[in-house]
Amino acid sequence: MHLRKLIAGNWKMNKTTSDAVALARDLAAALGQQNDIDVAVCPPFTALESVGKVLDGSIIKLGAQNLHPEASGAFTGEISAPMLRALFVTHVIVGHSERRVLFGETDSFINQKVLTALKHQLRPILCVGENLAEREAGATLRIIQTQIEAAFEGVSKELAPSVIVAYEPVWAIGTGKVATAEQAQEVHGFIRGLLAKLFTETVARKGRILYGGSMKPANAGELLGQKDIDGGLIGGASLEARSFVDLVRAAAEAK
Ligand code: PEP
Repeated sequence: MHLRKLIAGNWKMNKTTSDAVALARDLAAALGQQNDIDVAVCPPFTALESVGKVLDGSIIKLGAQNLHPEASGAFTGEISAPMLRALFVTHVIVGHSERRVLFGETDSFINQKVLTALKHQLRPILCVGENLAEREAGATLRIIQTQIEAAFEGVSKELAPSVIVAYEPVWAIGTGKVATAEQAQEVHGFIRGLLAKLFTETVARKGRILYGGSMKPANAGELLGQKDIDGGLIGGASLEARSFVDLVRAAAEAK
């Protein structure tokens, strides 16, 4: 069974509100008729409300880049799930490698975020991936297994398919070094097998697994043509309408 592909853009710490609105307008205009693919964009928090208004009525879903496990309280600088829901956010990136590496997020903290997102009907886009040293040491699958098992701890089999996994080899993020289609498929197939072991075959079949790491219009077709690659999480190439739209079209062709 082929799942409907999802292309999600992670705008990271880029775009003022007016720049974000301009990009969202271009995307909504270009992708208005593209209803064979799921599309989401994750602007910075400051632009969520304005971008949400622009996207209202379009096929493009609104995602956030992070959330805190608690609903409210003394957590200066943090954003909660109810705050995101109030802005009609539907997806949230959790455990991005930049948060793991630069902000010290642990597997158990990421697990709390996954559980919180699900509790508030937000779809987590759970990022997992090995760094270069881990790949070179032959530890890729072990690292992925540890991250997935920890992140899914306490998730019910009913809700497990709502977690979108994004395999993002850290060495391929923002570096221009893309994993080969074979390297990516090997890990995606492994993740699907692991979900079947942790939950059921049905969960594994229904759960989407995205690839992320220097995906561009030029390499998207081959990656997205792999049997277990159900879409992409896109950083750099999501910051311009032309490249993001081309990626969405490549996904539509690869389905
Ligand atoms: C990302 O950071 O999620 C990502 C995939 O970035 P890039 O596409 O720029 O490698």
